[in-house]
Amino acid sequence: MRLLKSAHRISQISATVLAMSSTNRSRTYIFDAHNHVHLSMGSEVPSLSKEEIHQCCIDESNVTRMEDSKQHARNIYQNYSSSYQDGEYHPIGCIAMMSTQPRDFPIVQTIAQELKAYNENKEGDLTLQKGVIECYGIHPWMLQQATQDFDHLPDDIFEGKGPKWLPFLKHYLISNPASHVGEIGLDSARWEMDEETKEKVPIPMDLQIEAFEAQMHIAADLKRSVSIHTVHCWGELMDSLNRIKTERTKLRKEQRQLRKTLKRQLGFETNKDELRNIEKQLEELGDDTLVFPPCMYFHAFGGKTALVDQLDAITRDKASPQASPDVYFGFAPVINFTAPKTMSVMKKIGLKRLVIESDLENYKRVSHDLRENVKFIANCFDVLENEVIEQTMMNAENIYFR
Ligand SMILES: [Zn+2]
Repeated sequence: MRLLKSAHRISQISATVLAMSSTNRSRTYIFDAHNHVHLSMGSEVPSLSKEEIHQCCIDESNVTRMEDSKQHARNIYQNYSSSYQDGEYHPIGCIAMMSTQPRDFPIVQTIAQELKAYNENKEGDLTLQKGVIECYGIHPWMLQQATQDFDHLPDDIFEGKGPKWLPFLKHYLISNPASHVGEIGLDSARWEMDEETKEKVPIPMDLQIEAFEAQMHIAADLKRSVSIHTVHCWGELMDSLNRIKTERTKLRKEQRQLRKTLKRQLGFETNKDELRNIEKQLEELGDDTLVFPPCMYFHAFGGKTALVDQLDAITRDKASPQASPDVYFGFAPVINFTAPKTMSVMKKIGLKRLVIESDLENYKRVSHDLRENVKFIANCFDVLENEVIEQTMMNAENIYFR
């Protein structure tokens, strides 16, 4: 048994060595698929105040503290750069930075832009060679803050119904076409202290569900990937995914029918104005509606093995299988590595659908945790650490470089 295992291991090593030598070494990098390094330890980069976020809705140039954010970006870059030079690993080549509420959005944007510019000026250093993925979303923990921040705004300035922060989120996603949606989700274990009664109050689940579904619709409409947080409410999540699936499948059916009718009309319409009108309607209809965002990434996954099958089943688009989302999973050392089930869940998922993540705010610990993540996965699948780095990099590229 042991002999067999070592023979297997040697063949894996040679396969990996071959793979490494046949690819450009500098192309392989560590991809932190989920972090919050725009927030810092202590008060290096404080969140924007309520007044500042309102200014920001009107004019982004009014945002203050951007100088702090720029300095913070430099600190992150220098820290990543020196941890690459000190270690034997590949560099941290790309990070996906998750916001948690609108107060973060301008900071995420500024730090991402600053890091990109910083990298471009540093020829030869492979740190963050692939840049920063900006992610915009409202985390369930920050939902009440986001709601309060936008509550005073009059209803009639918003398009349609839904949370008042929604157009602000949409604005950030549309004006940053390479950005994705995160971090969003549902959490029934989180509570807030009521200052008056001193009682623990859970974040209302109906508010969480409304916010989650609204953000899933935006991500699917704009064809952006989503990073999802779920704690102790897989039942609610499944119900939500079911509702989204039913609603959007119905919408897609109606749109397909309308497209068919319009195309038929094009065939026999002779009036030029009418023809132009039909063509305009067809253009507005656009591509086929996606039922789910193109890629769904469950970060710090705390579900059991059976849940992987359930998530795969619910996200499968039976009517248009090619439009099914790619589903990925990540495990954060700070959250998952002490849970006994983590290895068996990872095995169930398989290396081809795993990414590595730090889920950290403190950039100084990121390098350490990403290495822990690589070691843990390599041990789980009995493969070389380089293989883990390369495969998780390709997986994360599929999520974020679409
Ligand atoms: Zn997170």
